[in-house]
Amino acid sequence: MVRTRLNLSYSMATATAVGFLASCSNLQKAENHPHYNIVYIMTDDHCAQMMSCYDSRYMETPNLDRIAADGVRFTQSFVANSLSGPSRACMLTGKHSCANKFYDNTTCVFDGSQQTFPKLLQKAGYQTALVGKWHLESLPTGFDYWKIVPGQGDYYNPDFITQDNDTVRERGYITNLITDNAIDWMENRRDASKPFCLLIHHKAIHRSWMSDTCNLNLYEDKTFPLPDNFYDNYEGRLAAAAQEMSVAKDLDVIYDLKMFREDKETPLKSAYKYYTGRMDKEQKAAWDKFYNPIIEDFYQRNLQGKELAEWKFQRYMRDYMKTVKSLDDNVGRVLDYLKEKGLLDNTLIVYTSDQGFYMGEHGWFDKRFMYEESMRTPLIMRLPKGFDRRGDISEMVQNIDYAPTFLELAGADIPDDIQGVSLVPLLKGKHPENWRKSLYYHFYEYPAEHMVKRHYGIRTERYKLIHFYNDIDSWELYDLQADPTEMRNLYGQLEYEPVVKKLKEELLKLQEQYNDPVRFSPERDRE
Ligand code: CA
Repeated sequence: MVRTRLNLSYSMATATAVGFLASCSNLQKAENHPHYNIVYIMTDDHCAQMMSCYDSRYMETPNLDRIAADGVRFTQSFVANSLSGPSRACMLTGKHSCANKFYDNTTCVFDGSQQTFPKLLQKAGYQTALVGKWHLESLPTGFDYWKIVPGQGDYYNPDFITQDNDTVRERGYITNLITDNAIDWMENRRDASKPFCLLIHHKAIHRSWMSDTCNLNLYEDKTFPLPDNFYDNYEGRLAAAAQEMSVAKDLDVIYDLKMFREDKETPLKSAYKYYTGRMDKEQKAAWDKFYNPIIEDFYQRNLQGKELAEWKFQRYMRDYMKTVKSLDDNVGRVLDYLKEKGLLDNTLIVYTSDQGFYMGEHGWFDKRFMYEESMRTPLIMRLPKGFDRRGDISEMVQNIDYAPTFLELAGADIPDDIQGVSLVPLLKGKHPENWRKSLYYHFYEYPAEHMVKRHYGIRTERYKLIHFYNDIDSWELYDLQADPTEMRNLYGQLEYEPVVKKLKEELLKLQEQYNDPVRFSPERDRE
């Protein structure tokens, strides 16, 4: 891997000239490099449990499975901060939150003047485009073309913000519309003489999991087994006990589960009215036709306690799956388009999510925690010709690795300050001996919705050590081999003291390496 660095003692004029020369040489280098395109499809909150190429228990996702079957599946894929905006910022910059400064969704605005991989790809001669969810508060930079949804976006008849700063409403279902726009860019708008990088960022599968009308009737005859730890009592895990993301307590029967009746009140009723208020007559008629009998039955039964919790779980699963179904169909449309245009051989196709999600594990929906279900994210790739690797890749990878991967694939230099590591050697079938042995994680958004306390931690192949801090000072240790669902906090047990000592040393090393100013203090720890 080639790295370049400007000498900071140069005058600005020299630096500008050197910068120009560096980008010329970048371009020259890229010109002699195979022109691989990159199609990066990222969903929101789509966990591996709900993809049949990862998990066969729940639903079929034949189009996503095509990507994995023709390419590779990462079995140890993780994010650096399990939340929408921060995860997107990590992906774009190849840096942890402490370096890209987008810590949380509630207080941060992404500094669009900073280095991102789309900007570096432009310098290497690529045409770059972004369609769909952005969620970084500032407008996109580094894209020749972009069209984004404001904030979280709406499932029905969504607004799009266009590059000339107009807002347009498009009729239809968002997953179809984002795909239509992505294909339209590839077909009609791009400069076909240049390699391209297209980011397709879906709103799906985000809360509140609103199905397209054509999929409403799916999965209704299915009943799903509860996860073994659905009734977790969070013993020995203070932060887990303090969250507000439980299916039983926090999933709103109207907003989340669509049990709307004028005479019933829930905290999020008005939000539900807003979302369904966007539907046109035809969409609303199909929606009501499906939901009205379920609503009537629900209020008539007056479920309580465990019966209510389990009813909520079943509805949650069905709504989520219907939303995934549209996504899978639309991924199929993109694959078919690339095939039809003869682009498959020279295109890297990536499918991932901004993080994982809980499907009732620990009794939860949502994400945020460093526990496995939400620290993990699915990652599958279809590789261009010349990359012969197929099947599973089991090295630990993180979303900060995508930026350097795309740069190396494009033949561009990887700047020194990028914290991720290129996955290209893995895609070529190599198993680098010095591959990372541990991953760093840091979640900041607290106090905020769902009330998951701030924490950082380290994950190795076998262990996970987490420190919850801020208004709490609580450590957790898991042996992932013996306890993969993280139910037994081993921190403080005498026999694990040597393991904890080593993990804390490694944790501090990572915090120093990534220059995280919020870090574990060995001095305070000894007090
Ligand atoms: Ca998300």
